[in-house]
Amino acid sequence: MTISSGLNWNDTRCIVCMQEADLSIEHIIPRSIGGILTCRFLCKSCNERFGAGFEADARIAPEIRKAAGQHGESISDLRDRLEVGARYKQSFGDNDRTAELRKDRVLGAAKLNDSSLIVPEMEAAQKIRSILGKSGASDREINSAVKSWEAAPPNTEVDLGHGVFIKRWQNHPARPTYDEPALSPIVPLKIAFEFVSLILGGAVYLRNHTLQEVRRILTDQDEASADALIEVGLATASAPFHGIAFQGNRPNAQVQVRLFGTLSFTVEFPGLGIKTAPITYTHDLRTGVEEIRSKARNS
Ligand SMILES: [Zn+2]
Repeated sequence: MTISSGLNWNDTRCIVCMQEADLSIEHIIPRSIGGILTCRFLCKSCNERFGAGFEADARIAPEIRKAAGQHGESISDLRDRLEVGARYKQSFGDNDRTAELRKDRVLGAAKLNDSSLIVPEMEAAQKIRSILGKSGASDREINSAVKSWEAAPPNTEVDLGHGVFIKRWQNHPARPTYDEPALSPIVPLKIAFEFVSLILGGAVYLRNHTLQEVRRILTDQDEASADALIEVGLATASAPFHGIAFQGNRPNAQVQVRLFGTLSFTVEFPGLGIKTAPITYTHDLRTGVEEIRSKARNS
């Protein structure tokens, strides 16, 4: 049994719901966190349910972003992509606010806790026009207010009339709140199940009770049951990579999932033994190079 034979999936049943269907391309490690290993073995509806559910939140999970951040600039594109939509706390004098990072790497508009509004500098003039316009200011008043804003000294309140005051903030450090939901244990379980499927090929459709239970957990998105099958650890890794390894039967089939080199999940499949040598898949996140290694000797 090898993985490369599994990559050209030739059965027509979805490996999760077991229904005959038009199968769609599935990213075994979610694409949102940089995964590129794919196989056409999920039906559209299972694929979409995963994509909109536990996979959608994976990208923004604090431990994922921290793990990606440990590798500095070497994977800066991916690291920055993970931050889009993440929440940052920002201080303005004695007041704080929380805002989400936009695609253009700027924190979006959001109110301070004293209820004044903070907008990105390049959008300030437009905002002033719209607020003053709604308060009944004339075009002349609005144009003059925008000029006052443009000439405003840093960190000084300026009265624009009609009860509108502005301040051009110069020093407003931002830091991530990391209060987004943690990574769902369904994510590593799904990765491990799909990797096992690649190894098993057609045998994955046998009604082994553990495989059936894993299918149920994935379908119900039952996090508590997923948790019970997974041991979480932190590893040290000098290089950023995603990896999946079938480690053998100890005595049950055991699969290790590594994300960004450092997040480690050991998934156990009770009552399932796979008669094959250990197999390791790695994806170097800097070069995009994938590798599959088997420990089988001369076989
Ligand atoms: Zn399905």
